[in-house]
Amino acid sequence: MSKKYRSIRGTADFDSHQAYAFNRVVEIARQSFKNYSFDEIILPFLEEEGLFVRGVGQNSDIAEKQLFRIQDKDGVVLRPEGTAQVVRYFLENSLFNHGDFFKFSYIGAMFRGERPQKGRLRQFHHLGAEAIGSDNPALDAQIIILALDILDAVGVKEKELLINTLGCDKDKEIFSKELVKKLDSKKNNLCEDCKRRLGKNPLRVIDCKNKECKKTVTSLNIGEGRLCSNCQTHFDEVLGVLDMLKIKYTHAPYLVRGLDYYTNTVFEITSSALGSQDAIGAGGRYNNLIKNLGGPDIPAIGFALGIERILIALGESGEKERLKAYVAVADNSLRGDALKMVNELRGEGISCDTDYCLKSLKGQLRAAVKRRARFVVIFGEEEHKKGCVLLKDMDKSIQSEIKTKDLINEVKNA
Ligand SMILES: [Zn+2]
Ligand SMILES: [Zn+2]
Repeated sequence: MSKKYRSIRGTADFDSHQAYAFNRVVEIARQSFKNYSFDEIILPFLEEEGLFVRGVGQNSDIAEKQLFRIQDKDGVVLRPEGTAQVVRYFLENSLFNHGDFFKFSYIGAMFRGERPQKGRLRQFHHLGAEAIGSDNPALDAQIIILALDILDAVGVKEKELLINTLGCDKDKEIFSKELVKKLDSKKNNLCEDCKRRLGKNPLRVIDCKNKECKKTVTSLNIGEGRLCSNCQTHFDEVLGVLDMLKIKYTHAPYLVRGLDYYTNTVFEITSSALGSQDAIGAGGRYNNLIKNLGGPDIPAIGFALGIERILIALGESGEKERLKAYVAVADNSLRGDALKMVNELRGEGISCDTDYCLKSLKGQLRAAVKRRARFVVIFGEEEHKKGCVLLKDMDKSIQSEIKTKDLINEVKNA
């Protein structure tokens, strides 16, 4: 017996309904990106490992255990996220010499190499946006509102926007030291990962999903008053713009995001419709990433939304598009005429199909119902002699004889 092939664990096939729902989300997002004046770019799946180790952070989960390495290509990985990649593109093409402000969007697959767990795929899809070249708080607000707009437009309900600020690198460093001091006596309550993180990247402890770690961190009472005045002003202004535009948010002082490149504003959007604590999307400022990857000192901010997570939040609401017309024949001698009609209808941009399996008329009608055709066009011998066809309106359950030459207009105008 020959081997039966199965899909790779952690990957998912999209059936035609899911593909329709997926494409609908993509199309709506694309329109939003256009409305906000973002330019879409398409970047490769493959990148150098170092880009993410250096960009996202050596001690981040992504670099430590999630990179999808290509076994026989040393140092090549499947991209885990879009931001570092967009920055690589920006720097490789020296775009900073061609303007001072850029807005990019991207839509595509991302990959994770760790063992797949429930709800965590090896291949998943992001739609994201990056705005490069401005430190203006209004831009932070705009990026957040764009992410919310897309989720609104696709129909994700019960969203919550969580927002926080990490401050600049200096603020992060001071905060990290404080955290280490505060956690020193509570070390034994932390998970193994966090014990390690404490020495390398203490901020990540705050991000840990482990229950005990969460409890320990909450007991620390970290809160306000740890930012320099510039960063505090920036954050206040971001919140001011959100207030002005009546965007609801929750200030979440424990939100740090798992990637090292974030500075100042970070945010996450969750939805109770997702049924877990995972975010639908997240983003933030990364004012030092471009410099850290060897470029000039240019501030930037961006976000990414998980398309699979959006689809889970939407539930089963994705309906496939209907077929406009199904062309059937009562007699095999009329199949040639039917094919000609199918071609004409398609030429007019009307979605239609016909039978290719020599089914009986009854079988053809069943196929039309299965495809949810709005109209069935029946070529019958009697009608054909008069230059007519039968047009069946499946929604209204009425059938009428019409001139073949009038058919296209009739279907088009319905
Ligand atoms: Zn600061
Ligand atoms: Zn932990």
